[in-house]
Amino acid sequence: MRKSVLNQPIDTFNLDEVAALARGAFLNPKQLKIVTLNPEMIVNAIKNIELQAAINNSNLIVPDGTGIVWAYKTLNKKEQIKIERVPGIELAEKILEYASELKKSVAIFGSHPLSLERAVFNLQNKYSNLNIVKAIDGYKGVERDSEIADEIANENPHLILVALGSPKQEVWINKYSHLFPKSVLIGVGGSVDVWAGKVQRAPKWFRDNHLEWFYRAVSQPKRTTRILKSLPKFMWMVFKALSQTKQGF
Ligand code: UDP
Repeated sequence: MRKSVLNQPIDTFNLDEVAALARGAFLNPKQLKIVTLNPEMIVNAIKNIELQAAINNSNLIVPDGTGIVWAYKTLNKKEQIKIERVPGIELAEKILEYASELKKSVAIFGSHPLSLERAVFNLQNKYSNLNIVKAIDGYKGVERDSEIADEIANENPHLILVALGSPKQEVWINKYSHLFPKSVLIGVGGSVDVWAGKVQRAPKWFRDNHLEWFYRAVSQPKRTTRILKSLPKFMWMVFKALSQTKQGF
């Protein structure tokens, strides 16, 4: 169900529901652009009009970050709507499972060449019928973006996973989506690194206690700075919105 949080659209489907919508788009081919929203993206979208346009033009915007679920619940205390986190990597894995089951073709664009190679190998082992028709790393330079989009479009894949990190991946999807009228497109951030075995996901305890973001912030130093930059702004936005609605904590 389409709702909004801090002036951003948000769909309150759970992981299985979103994956089922992707499955539906495989069976009855149509374009489905999925954005997995986190607090950093909400902060960045204020100044980045391309990211904002990409969010607005998506078919599904799901709460990837714990902070999004928390903000939604804090700002809509009286609402009975159920909202839960849809971890991007788990969503992508479920969609890959369906792609394999239905023998749909997959393209992956992004991540380091070595990560990509290993991830493709591991994914093909994990999902027996997975048909990866194209895998292009994300370090060819922006000037080749358009050429890469054409190269992927030539394969007409049913599923396109874009692993360039945010906002690059959302902006790329929005810019070239006209070339993929019947594809499911989703930005998967660092998931390829996890599938490659290069990066570990947070241990179960952190995931169960809504602290995956904290684990990632501490274990990946480049992320620490990013989170430290956006978190106070995000908290301030929630606080400001809360005082405007006069709901109180
Ligand atoms: N990446 C890329 N090209 C770039 C910048 C990043 O392919 O120009 C890849 C990077 O190698 C990594 C992913 O994009 O695999 C981004 O990962 P990150 O953990 O930053 O994304 P998040 O999961 O936070 O969205």
